[in-house]
Amino acid sequence: MALKVRVVGVGDAFTARYYNACLLVESANTRLLIDAPPALARALRDLGERGGETVSLDDVDSVLITHLHGDHCGGLEQLLFWRRFVTQRKCSVYAIAPVLAGLWEGRLRGGMDVLLDGEGARHPLRLEDYATLVTLGAEGPTEIGDLSIAWRETVHHIPTSALKITHRGATFGYSADTSFDPSLIAWLAESALFFHETNLGIHTPLGALESLDAATRAKVRLIHYPDFHDPAQTSMATAREGDAYTV
Ligand SMILES: [Zn+2]
Repeated sequence: MALKVRVVGVGDAFTARYYNACLLVESANTRLLIDAPPALARALRDLGERGGETVSLDDVDSVLITHLHGDHCGGLEQLLFWRRFVTQRKCSVYAIAPVLAGLWEGRLRGGMDVLLDGEGARHPLRLEDYATLVTLGAEGPTEIGDLSIAWRETVHHIPTSALKITHRGATFGYSADTSFDPSLIAWLAESALFFHETNLGIHTPLGALESLDAATRAKVRLIHYPDFHDPAQTSMATAREGDAYTV
């Protein structure tokens, strides 16, 4: 099996039409979720409604969080509680060091640091009780099953990792959230194809991506776009929920 990427969500932080941006990577023996947006269980189930194999929270053993904004990690509590209460199998959470360091105190602790048992006793918990935590290496790629993950930091409000994911010589990239950064695009363009965000404000303007050279432009699949984005109005290929790409 080659490297397959399924598009779980394409929307931005304010979308009323889509799921928030999220990708599911699958190889011969590894499945890796890239980001865990709100309504995660439904977003995964809808992959099946769109013609692909249905995926549930049981099936996600590894999740990589690109950064701590809610549209990228707001579904993690649902996944971790499900794995604790229902399947009782920990999953692994991967992120760069500053993201992993902030995940508990900055996002999850308030809802997860105490659990009540059947006798009414309260038990304190830490993030490590819910998941195996793995920092993406700073020196070289991190292996996740038969995938190899390289990253570099993007230009965003808070620490954020763009990714290149390789399996048996095939690579795809993901910008995650970023301002327009030609050096990042050159790095991503070493891949066969890459998903790149586009949005307003400090995000990457569509026009900047449209001005790339033709060979680079052909590798881009737009994601994290605003609800008003009209694929028919641009020469850029636009990722849609349920799409499956093989590289
Ligand atoms: Zn963000």
